[in-house]
Amino acid sequence: MSFRVQKEIRWEAAHRLIKGYSGKCQFLHGHSWVARITVELRPGQELDAAGLAKDFGEFKAVQQWVEEHWDHGALVAQDDRAWLTWLRENGQKHFVFPDNPTSERIAETLFCVAAELLNDERCRVCRVVVSETPANEAVYEGK
Ligand SMILES: [Zn+2]
Repeated sequence: MSFRVQKEIRWEAAHRLIKGYSGKCQFLHGHSWVARITVELRPGQELDAAGLAKDFGEFKAVQQWVEEHWDHGALVAQDDRAWLTWLRENGQKHFVFPDNPTSERIAETLFCVAAELLNDERCRVCRVVVSETPANEAVYEGK
């Protein structure tokens, strides 16, 4: 027996890619980001007495984290000094990534955040999918 539940969350944010990249994403732009977070029952675990693998209400903690740190903010690489300086000097909401804030890195970061907030003895986050556009997805799967 295996169950997974999946929750979609959305936010608006700007980013650009500056390191080792010369395509159009080097220019500052924004997306309506969509992430799908998947939680699975750990091996040998069963649905709870209510028949749930994970109460969808528990995902609100992840949504709140995203709203606080990313929504209507700038997702910026730590080496993007010019933009980072401007953001700080102008009191703009931003979140610093150790590398380019790609969909892949955003999925990886969100996986870690969601795992911290949602993992318990019965369930664990197993997958995060992040989309910049309806046609593009990056997938991060935990071990
Ligand atoms: Zn982009």
